[in-house]
Amino acid sequence: GEWSGDAIRRRFLDFYASRGHKILPSSSLVPDDPTVFLTIAGMLQFKPIFLGKEPRRVPCATTSQKCIRTNDIENVGRTTRHQTFFEMLGNFSFGDYFKKEAITWAWELTTKEFGLPPERLWISVFEDDDEAFSIWHNEVGVPKERIKRLGEDDNFWTSGATGPCGPCSEIYYDFHPERGSTDADLGDDSRFIEFYNLVFMQYNKKDDGSLEPLKQKNIDTGMGLERMARILQKVPNNYETDLIFPIIEKAASMAIVSYTTADDAIKTNLKIIGDHMRAVVYLISDGVIPSNIGRGYVVRRLIRRVVRTCRLIGIRGDGHGNSEGAFLPSLAEVAIRLSTEIDPDVESRRKSILGELQREELRFVQTLERGEKLLDELLDEALLSAGNNGGKCSLSGKDVFLLYDTYGFPVEITAEIAGERGVSVDMKGFDIEMENQRKQSQAAHNVVKLSVGNDTEIVKSIPDTEFLGYDYLSATAVVKG
Ligand code: ATP
Ligand code: MG
Ligand code: MG
Ligand code: MG
Repeated sequence: GEWSGDAIRRRFLDFYASRGHKILPSSSLVPDDPTVFLTIAGMLQFKPIFLGKEPRRVPCATTSQKCIRTNDIENVGRTTRHQTFFEMLGNFSFGDYFKKEAITWAWELTTKEFGLPPERLWISVFEDDDEAFSIWHNEVGVPKERIKRLGEDDNFWTSGATGPCGPCSEIYYDFHPERGSTDADLGDDSRFIEFYNLVFMQYNKKDDGSLEPLKQKNIDTGMGLERMARILQKVPNNYETDLIFPIIEKAASMAIVSYTTADDAIKTNLKIIGDHMRAVVYLISDGVIPSNIGRGYVVRRLIRRVVRTCRLIGIRGDGHGNSEGAFLPSLAEVAIRLSTEIDPDVESRRKSILGELQREELRFVQTLERGEKLLDELLDEALLSAGNNGGKCSLSGKDVFLLYDTYGFPVEITAEIAGERGVSVDMKGFDIEMENQRKQSQAAHNVVKLSVGNDTEIVKSIPDTEFLGYDYLSATAVVKG
């Protein structure tokens, strides 16, 4: 159709370019900032400018930024709107224009360029931001009942525990206007999707949590490309847009299933594959190599999850007739083919991306086959004894530890497989086993907690930490450093 993902990206950038913005390239998924784990938003490459630590080179800029949000990993395929990898379109003002222009341009872009019907658009503002409310209502003309005042969780944006932040205003699309405006809840994702966030960046959040006004008032925005594509292409979720669906189709053909007629479980798995394949291709392309530490563990975890998901839906072999071959490279080829307008460097790194994926997959499949067999037996036993006692079923910390320590079986995979059979895992018990082992080893390691669930957490000296295990339930990695 008219609105391919590439066309949407181009229109966004051209719109702001013709309003004085300089089009700048996406920065790497690995930020040039030791305090940030991975790039979660378009503003990161501009953080020093917002904070006044670096002079601005231009008054305003526009980008399409590659982003990774591992805190959304559990949402992939389960909501219609979250990926771990996505592109964020953004326009930025470095002490140049502020609320009024940001709001009126966002409205013009959305309704005139992309042609969304104004009566389908709803607005949120920060609860006490009367100025933003008034611009939306009095100048743009949005009726009061379609402007909601929301609290800090939704409408005060911070890039991390500290750093530039401010109140924000979001634009939502209404899939079901027939439901009327009484009791309408923007958090109801069967009806609404948030697609554009305008951040009025005017504070620096300090270590003690206090807000210090910035010298300049800035604008930082983010529009999810896949979300806009999903609205304009009139498909039921982000994964069915032209930005992701070709990967899903390839996976479906390798599994000899059809996406359209597949049941929900298989569809969810195909969506996970579509998302994770993009994530791992771009991460490796940006130099993140699978490992047991820091960022390397993020990519390893995504690769392991996608390998297992592919096997679950029946993918075996390389898709070129070799039944022992790796399948990830064939899927990655599609993601690489789709990458040209997102990131022209990916194509040139193709050989090393495919090699890395193949190595990691073949290594992991061995672990998986050994561990899965033992885990099945342990789950059979656990279910049997729970049945006998009529109680809740849980896999002991000892068993989880055995799988992890002796078989190299990742804790999050244990939890996922157990969960599929209705069995929980005793993570506390696992932590105790880990702790015992740590105490037994004479080396005086200093165990710290490193959050990988929230990428914005400050991670000090990532290269010095060694991964010890993964607390699946609290999304916390245990590392020694
Ligand atoms: P949500 O509430 O839907 O999780 P968010 O408020 O966390 O989104 P922001 O931090 O405001 O998102 O990011 C700006 C924009 O980036 C969002 O309005 C959305 O269009 C897009 N976006 C955010 N997270 C994702 C994701 N996981 N996958 C795809 N697009 C995303
Ligand atoms: Mg979110
Ligand atoms: Mg939100
Ligand atoms: Mg938001």
